[in-house]
Amino acid sequence: MTKNWKNFTEEDFDKLEESEHQLSLDELSIMLIFLRDSKEDILAEIIKFYKKYGTNDIVTYNDARKYVSTKDRRRRIAVLLDSIEELLENAVDASEIRFRNLVKELIKTEQDTFDIKSTKEHETEIQWGQDDKHWYERLWDDKELWFLYLTNDLKQGFIRQRKLDDVLKQVNKRFDYMENVLERLVGTETNAICSVMRQEIFKKLGIEKYQYYTQADEITCETCGPMNGLIFPISAYEIGVTAPPIHPNCRCYTVPLMD
Ligand SMILES: [Zn+2]
Repeated sequence: MTKNWKNFTEEDFDKLEESEHQLSLDELSIMLIFLRDSKEDILAEIIKFYKKYGTNDIVTYNDARKYVSTKDRRRRIAVLLDSIEELLENAVDASEIRFRNLVKELIKTEQDTFDIKSTKEHETEIQWGQDDKHWYERLWDDKELWFLYLTNDLKQGFIRQRKLDDVLKQVNKRFDYMENVLERLVGTETNAICSVMRQEIFKKLGIEKYQYYTQADEITCETCGPMNGLIFPISAYEIGVTAPPIHPNCRCYTVPLMD
């Protein structure tokens, strides 16, 4: 990869996108291991809770709200939820480190490709999108939401007197959903970070126009397909409008145009 970016063909940019995508898949696979480990631990906590306080694999809402003991005046369910939150938090904490690593690698790839030495400080603090959030704010917002879902699932399980098996099934389903959300988050943030970097780098290099490219498998995408090949001035570079990501999991990219 000593080829100068000025001689890059469409295929070279395609390969670059592919290698950045691969980076994200590598880190994602580790994050998914953290999430699955945390799921196993959470399921074990729930089983323990049902075995301890339940009758015939059912814990009533009333039982769940009783105090742990006459000495420990915390409600049983509060103790369970605390440990679940901690387990989930540990997984997200560990994922955050991998995410940060991914962002660093992506920025380095972009800078190396365009032979740019360094950009602004706090490079991993890239904000983008209509909510103007950092990737880690989105990650922690998701964690908050996931925890709320689990909380509601458990409470509803007690109130409706669901059997342990059904409760575990529901928790498993939630984790499938969380995995999808994490996958989408990593994919979309990867694309956004590269897109933000290109805008910065193109400006720095004095490039005036850029071209929008769609991945071969996205050409048929209703949203991105019509964008393929469009040329814009750098001043019009706007993520979600004239620059990727246009939608979650978007894998489109921009290339510099030289006169
Ligand atoms: Zn796209």
